[in-house]
Amino acid sequence: TIEPAWEREDKYHASFLTQPDEALEYAVKNSDANELDTIAVTALQGKYLNLQARAIGAKRVLELGTLGGYSTIWLARALPDDGELITCEYEPKHARVAGENIAYAGLSSKVKILVGPAADSLAKLDPARKFDLAFIDADKAGYPVYLEYCKTLVRKGGVIIVDNTVRQGRVSDMSFQDENSKGVRKMLEDLKNSTEFEATTLQTVGEKAWDGFTYVLRL
Ligand code: SAM
Repeated sequence: TIEPAWEREDKYHASFLTQPDEALEYAVKNSDANELDTIAVTALQGKYLNLQARAIGAKRVLELGTLGGYSTIWLARALPDDGELITCEYEPKHARVAGENIAYAGLSSKVKILVGPAADSLAKLDPARKFDLAFIDADKAGYPVYLEYCKTLVRKGGVIIVDNTVRQGRVSDMSFQDENSKGVRKMLEDLKNSTEFEATTLQTVGEKAWDGFTYVLRL
């Protein structure tokens, strides 16, 4: 459920903190026209990703789960001219639509879309070329594997932001035994035992209902 006040509050804050934006509006319209699910981050969350990338001076960003490239655009805009964003997407159709949206936003030169299962793409990346920031937003069952790759692919002092880690309270409710909830639980176990990461979770409510981010620092 989305409480009217949650959605209203998002819209109110966005009216001060975000601008009308032709490229992002195009990305939403083109994604809708191609019948992609409306599960992209919100504008305020996209801006959070953008600010976070700028705050740490990110030059290389890794994204898992491109969909129509909405969060990709927010993140790629944070990069300097010689910056690079690599985004991994399983569905060729999503990758095609994202490519169109990223081109419309004038960001194609900075963004590379790797099509296929994220784990396969991650296995092919060169660990010598570290990322400053990773945004993990693909299948939740894969989160433990993705976090493991971040040990070698994200630089020390880099940041990993993991989306949808609260899932309307399902993660802490053991009557839910779906692969997504189990994936997030396993990731939390791995974080608990890790000497390479330190993390926290921020619950969110808003126009995307009740969810949360897990924010991870690569030590
Ligand atoms: N980050 C996007 C945004 O906010 O604009 C939303 C991403 S959407 C929540 C998740 C995406 O992950 C979908 O496009 C889905 O096809 C993709 N996906 C699912 N399983 C995947 C996998 N194993 N590897 C790569 N991508 C996957």
